[in-house]
Amino acid sequence: MANPFVDDAKIIREDNPFESMMQRFDEAAARLHLDPNIYKILRWPNREITFYIPVLMDDGNYQVFTAYRVQHNFARGPAKGGVRYGPDVCLDEVRALAAWMTWKCAVVNIPFGGAKGGIICEPRQMSPSELERLTRRYTAELLDFIGPERDVPAPDMNTNEQVMAWMMDTYSMHARHTVTAVVTGKPVEIGGSLGRREATGRGLLIVCNEACRKYNLDPERTRVVIQGCGNVGGVAALLMMQEGYKIVGMADLTGALYNKTGLDVKSVLGYLKEHKTVEGYVEAEHMTNEEILEMDCDILIPAATENQITSHNADRIKCRILAEGANGPTTAEADEIISEKNIYVVADILANAGGVTVSYFEWVQNRMGFYWTEAEVNSRLKHIMVNAFGDVNRFCEKYKVNTRLASYMLAIDRVAYDTHLRGIYA
Ligand code: GLU
Repeated sequence: MANPFVDDAKIIREDNPFESMMQRFDEAAARLHLDPNIYKILRWPNREITFYIPVLMDDGNYQVFTAYRVQHNFARGPAKGGVRYGPDVCLDEVRALAAWMTWKCAVVNIPFGGAKGGIICEPRQMSPSELERLTRRYTAELLDFIGPERDVPAPDMNTNEQVMAWMMDTYSMHARHTVTAVVTGKPVEIGGSLGRREATGRGLLIVCNEACRKYNLDPERTRVVIQGCGNVGGVAALLMMQEGYKIVGMADLTGALYNKTGLDVKSVLGYLKEHKTVEGYVEAEHMTNEEILEMDCDILIPAATENQITSHNADRIKCRILAEGANGPTTAEADEIISEKNIYVVADILANAGGVTVSYFEWVQNRMGFYWTEAEVNSRLKHIMVNAFGDVNRFCEKYKVNTRLASYMLAIDRVAYDTHLRGIYA
């Protein structure tokens, strides 16, 4: 069936994340023999909001920013997903990310649908007060659409706990009482969950442990390359090093570091914090972001952004296990090449689901008004991630498909079943 957003004549662009998502969705739906009516419905997001927000800049002028919130699906619960700020944000990207949230929440079987938001802006060139005004106006525009039972935003690229605090406060000011459960990823002091900050990285560690167990790999002898040193890649690198893995490669926007005897992750992250660049770091070989992805390693973790592994470089990827920390780091065209190389893929919608899983715990704790210890959060996270890993592998065996397709099939099967149970109000 034609992509609802792209006319047939238009060439499918490999780097369009929405196309990448839809190709996998279509293939998974076909393998599942999905009911044609449910298929028709699940190909469309529920709602897309585009709006233009004026913000008072520090120089006294106003600037108008383009903003989005796409609410992809509500069949299993309130929509859930982050908000990203950046110059390259566009509707097709937000659409893809919203759909991935639906599939991600379904893979780990938490009671949420999917959503994503974005604002086209240059966050690094904005002052904290400009970012605060931008965030508050964005939240105010969405008052009718978000809420603990409607849609629960969270951090994503270039947004953080502070941004969530502003969103929670803005929503609460209008509600005339504090509504902590309207967003997740808040500072712990005002309703955030212990363990949320590390959750995506910890989730990656858990699935990598499971994949290693499957292939009898011992962490001490497992070489890991991680692209991305932020809240996902940086935390994963630290936790994996503590677990005994050998982190041989790390990369951020400014370049990549490689050391075959293992990098000191703490020292790399400390250096980055101080110098804002990896340039000049002594105890490693320097290379580009493209080169580090092609280094020989056992586990490759792209934890930066979309479209890093494409039809152009997929045949040069040399890892045994690919664990996707970012959303959409591999294009649909690259899937086949990766699959033929016998690389075991932990797809993004499973590999990076630790973040939204602990977001779910945060939302639960906010609504109970009762807070768990970090150990409790981490043990519940482990339970959910290990189960989801097992569920995906069972789908692989049952349908004789690769792990990417199995992850999509598992997710779509759950969302389709629940849609069917609820019935279509038409
Ligand atoms: N932005 C994160 C993701 O892509 C977390 C979303 C959430 O916690 O709602 O999964």
